[in-house]
Amino acid sequence: MEKKHEDKLEVEIREHSDADFFPEKCPSCGSEKIKRKTYKMRTIQDLGTPTICRRIRYEKVTFICKDCKKTFTIRHPLIPPRTSYMPGVIKYATLRILKEGDSIRRVTKDLNELHHVEVSVSEVKLWVDKEGKRGELNVDFSNEEPPKDFSGFISIDGTFKAATTKKNDLKTGTKK
Ligand SMILES: [Zn+2]
Repeated sequence: MEKKHEDKLEVEIREHSDADFFPEKCPSCGSEKIKRKTYKMRTIQDLGTPTICRRIRYEKVTFICKDCKKTFTIRHPLIPPRTSYMPGVIKYATLRILKEGDSIRRVTKDLNELHHVEVSVSEVKLWVDKEGKRGELNVDFSNEEPPKDFSGFISIDGTFKAATTKKNDLKTGTKK
């Protein structure tokens, strides 16, 4: 008899929201009458194990000032703005490739199969290129998408300012 292959994959989801760092003041007029306007959910992949798939559910919030009606966003301190991968994933991949000498294909395969990170070879190559060391791998992967909802600190009419935020309790629930 064949051994039954039991697929006991646990999905671990952490939730983060910009609302946990609710802005104290409007960066434009200084009013404290701020409310949420819209939100967008983003899923960010984190490094899992063969039995745990890890994802971050991130709520990107657009706030509005009730006085001057300007809208703005904040930069969440734990969420990288331009990517759908947590920094640890990228660090892991680039360390293996650049320091341990593993191939990009091998590491991509391991990420997908052992760590439950869905990623393509070309994406991993971009990470490596960003580390600035493997210029000799001249494959053209020029299909990079522009950064999605980049929110460098805080954006009002295209200008970026640092926003002061009030830190509420971090919701770090683990769901199955
Ligand atoms: Zn305002």
